Amino acid sequence: MKAMVLKEFCEIDTGEGASGKSLPLRKAPLDPVDLPVPVPGPHQVLVRISTCGVCHTELDEIEGRLIPPFFPRVPGHEIVGRVERAGSLATRYERGDRVGIAWIYSTCGTCAFCRDGNENLCPRFQATGLDADGGYAEYMVVPEEFAYPIPGVFSDLEAAPLLCAGVIGYRALRLSGAARGQILGLYGFGASAHIAIQAAKHRGCKVFVFTRPGQRDHQELAKKLGADWVGVTGEAPPEKLRCAIDFTPVGEPVKEALAALERGGRVVINAIRKVNPIPELDYAKYLWYEKEIKSVANVARRDAIEFLPLAAEIGIRPEVQAFELESANDALVLLKQGRMHGAGVLRIS
Ligand SMILES: [Zn+2]
Ligand SMILES: [Zn+2]
Repeated sequence: MKAMVLKEFCEIDTGEGASGKSLPLRKAPLDPVDLPVPVPGPHQVLVRISTCGVCHTELDEIEGRLIPPFFPRVPGHEIVGRVERAGSLATRYERGDRVGIAWIYSTCGTCAFCRDGNENLCPRFQATGLDADGGYAEYMVVPEEFAYPIPGVFSDLEAAPLLCAGVIGYRALRLSGAARGQILGLYGFGASAHIAIQAAKHRGCKVFVFTRPGQRDHQELAKKLGADWVGVTGEAPPEKLRCAIDFTPVGEPVKEALAALERGGRVVINAIRKVNPIPELDYAKYLWYEKEIKSVANVARRDAIEFLPLAAEIGIRPEVQAFELESANDALVLLKQGRMHGAGVLRIS
């Protein structure tokens, strides 16, 4: 089968030169290879992949901020496909059933976190496309209980970004505590935020969007999707925020969001890794008055199981920029440059 794999860490070349890290600079971080079709274990299903979303987390894997257990690794964790074959003890799906696969690949199922429904915090959490081969390929295997039915209203292209950008944005929205009539700030307006805003508007929140300077395209999309105010990170919004979600890969917006927060407000950070540190925070200025910072770690199955039907019900429509599997490297460069429109998705079969 065709696949795009990560063979070594490198720095993705966006045309701006090297950042001074010791990694080789590459325009094409992933290599096209031919791999054997994987064989499903007893409780797994073999999935023929139709589409796979392109996520910022791939940049973390390529640039060594997240470490796969070995190379080569097939990245990708926003996967839509059809069940091709079930393992000997897998009974949940028939051949041809459409399923989605998200970042959560498997967990132990027995630790205190798993038993309490916090399987995203399981010490044996395995991530799709990091600890196991993911969706930048024609086939993959996954434990059957970590594959989800996808509502029929979504095409394969539309459904892919729902599985990470959508599901984790939904988790972040839940953790933010944003309620009807409250002001929610969104920092960064890429794949995840453009889906989260649709859920937040449906919830009745007022939404203020902050982008990098010059991101006209992201600002236009935010307005189109109902943002009540759009500005640049660091700019003072017209009213204080009750809560904020930081979707950016950098550290500074955390400080900016804390500065824009109302007393008792909360900032939720929706990123597995930051490419640079969060700046030093003066306690009196940024944290006093019971302001909170909370990270979002992984996703639980519950997030996908709740979010997918909700997305169908409230009419969420992801904006998708499609690429062929062979062009995955172009998509990754565009993503790192902050020039992806909505969510990038690979069209595989
Ligand atoms: Zn992701
Ligand atoms: Zn566990």
